[in-house]
Amino acid sequence: MRQPLVAGNWKMNGSLASIKTLVEGIKAGLSSVTTAELAVCPPYVYIPQVAAMLKGTSIALGAQDVNDKESGAHTGEVAPGMLTDVGCKYAIVGHSERRSIYGESDEFTARKFAAARQAGLVPILCVGELLEEREQGITEDVVARQLDAVIKLEGVAALADAVIAYEPVWAIGTGKTASPQQAQDVHAFIRGKLAALDAGVAEKVQILYGGSMNAGNAADLLAMSDIDGGLIGGASLKPDDFLAIGKAANA
Ligand code: PEP
Repeated sequence: MRQPLVAGNWKMNGSLASIKTLVEGIKAGLSSVTTAELAVCPPYVYIPQVAAMLKGTSIALGAQDVNDKESGAHTGEVAPGMLTDVGCKYAIVGHSERRSIYGESDEFTARKFAAARQAGLVPILCVGELLEEREQGITEDVVARQLDAVIKLEGVAALADAVIAYEPVWAIGTGKTASPQQAQDVHAFIRGKLAALDAGVAEKVQILYGGSMNAGNAADLLAMSDIDGGLIGGASLKPDDFLAIGKAANA
């Protein structure tokens, strides 16, 4: 039985004051989320503030990205060991905004995945197709290519200690959610692809859906057999909505 995970990706939003209010709001309603693990991924600079506020709670902390190097001359970057040092459990790698806006390749993403694991973080590996790729009927090819970069570098076993987030790019921040069946089809494809290599890994890995998941549509998505939680952008900035998604993930 895979524990559901609902992770909030706050992206480049917030301030000391607004993040304090957001975390207080999530903590206040936490008792309603009985099954799922909740995690939040603040902008780097606010991670220590959030870590202090989350002490003694069950809410996990994550980062939105990570560099693939341990230290050194990489101006502006943050190393995996720095994230564990400040209390992170998770690091998102390969978010579509990193891939599309900052040109990060499948191979670079795979190196970040490897470096995150090496430092003791649980990577949340984002995969997903663009609208034109879905329209061309190559969704599975794209997702397979993104997964294969990690499998080639790290081996399939590495995915047993990781999280995969299927995030169709056309659904991120657009209000257009994949239908539960559309999402389930890709999740089943991912699990099936992994099962062909290692049945134990396929059974264990949590596969989250991301892309305009909200309080209204979460229950139907989370009811699908291969959807083990959500990676939530916009709705994770509102405590009530984030908690409602967490509640929808209660078994
Ligand atoms: C995301 O950025 O990972 C995401 C899923 O965003 P949204 O929920 O806003 O579509």
